[in-house]
Amino acid sequence: MNFYDLYDERLSAAERALVQAASDFCRGEFSVHLLESHTQGRAYDVSWIDRWAKEGFLGLQTPSELGGHDASFICKIRVAQAMAEHGFAAAFAINNLQGSVTRVARSGSEKQRAEFLDGMLSGRTLCAPAMSEPDGGSDLGALKTKARRVDGGWLISGTKSWVTNGSIIQCANLLARVDPIGKEAGETASFLVPLADGPTLRREELVMPGAQSFRLSRLIFQDHFVPDWCLFDPPGQAFKSSMASVNAARVHVAAMCVASARAALAEAVGYAETRQAFGKPLLRHQGLGWELAEVSLRLEAANALVLRAAIAVQTGKAALTLAAQAKKFAVDVATWGHDQCQRAMGAVGASADHRLAMLSSETRLAAFGDGTNQMLLDRIAKGLAKDYGPSPMQKESDQ
Ligand SMILES: Cc1cc2nc3c(=O)[nH]c(=O)nc-3n(C[C@H](O)[C@H](O)[C@H](O)COP(=O)(O)OP(=O)(O)OC[C@H]3O[C@@H](n4cnc5c(N)ncnc54)[C@H](O)[C@@H]3O)c2cc1C
Repeated sequence: MNFYDLYDERLSAAERALVQAASDFCRGEFSVHLLESHTQGRAYDVSWIDRWAKEGFLGLQTPSELGGHDASFICKIRVAQAMAEHGFAAAFAINNLQGSVTRVARSGSEKQRAEFLDGMLSGRTLCAPAMSEPDGGSDLGALKTKARRVDGGWLISGTKSWVTNGSIIQCANLLARVDPIGKEAGETASFLVPLADGPTLRREELVMPGAQSFRLSRLIFQDHFVPDWCLFDPPGQAFKSSMASVNAARVHVAAMCVASARAALAEAVGYAETRQAFGKPLLRHQGLGWELAEVSLRLEAANALVLRAAIAVQTGKAALTLAAQAKKFAVDVATWGHDQCQRAMGAVGASADHRLAMLSSETRLAAFGDGTNQMLLDRIAKGLAKDYGPSPMQKESDQ
């Protein structure tokens, strides 16, 4: 039984080869390194991003005429899943870089592509989205970072928080509010902000226990100059444009959650097949076997929902509700499933140097980015009447 077969049958031969190459890259030395660095309480080494870039994976969805693979959305999530089976935070963070390359390649101006794209594809210019702020994560409308027009460009002032890869990026795709005069005042705009450290930019690391590989940081700007050509979404369009990619981002995270939980289940089953207790393997004790069976059941349900949402995103069908449902359900199943798998392995599964402990502490943080559970339920609730009504019992004349 291949957990990913329904995804893989939608890929072209070239895409299947990419997924295989990603899978080969992640298993072996990289996988060992992820666990070692986690056990030592540090992030994985950045040199792995160079190696990943050399394989062309940062250009996964970049058009081929610009040097990328032009891969489909389902191919992109399969590549992310190949990494998430070995380390969730690394998969989240490295694929987050790839997302910025795609945005610049598809929507950047000619000048932006000329200045940034080569460096982004090669891993020399790492770029990440910076939207959340200390006072506004879920409520993005509350953002306070200001962009003030000056001769030849803009001055950015404010604080961006929980920026994935924040300690290593050279560029941020940053959301700010235009300040303070003129017809654009108060509108949101986005910028590609070069991040040379200096008196106008300070970085502070934000430590998430057991999840250093996200490299979360706070970026504090004070009159940080960006030239005019770095304006990405003009005033009034940035909010809409950020929301346009939210469904894909949610399904992407959900797909990595199911991959991480699947890896945990495989570990737990392997262990329970060989570990003896009371004269037989753990797995043959009904109480434990049923617990892992329950994990497999919910995991298959989450996988099916993620695939349905992924197909909707890829084919341009309505995906707002499905993406929210897939992320909420996959995060919950993975968080609960990791716990079950760890318990099935006794003290071994809970040890700091075991991959399950790493996958569990990293994957639980998926509950925050790209919509918390409450925000996702809110989204689903708003669509209930449209998505599930009217009742089939209702007479046609009443509709
Ligand atoms: C691992 C990780 C990576 C991240 N990466 C990035 C990144 O790269 N770039 C970036 O910009 N941000 C990033 N974030 C930030 C993330 O987007 C925010 O944490 C998220 O939006 C939630 O915002 P908050 O933490 O401020 O929580 P808050 O918005 O303060 O929410 C706190 C709690 O209140 C609940 N809540 C809020 N509003 C409502 C409501 N209306 N109804 C019911 N409940 C509500 C929330 O669901 C949550 O449980 C990352 C976060 C994490 C943990």
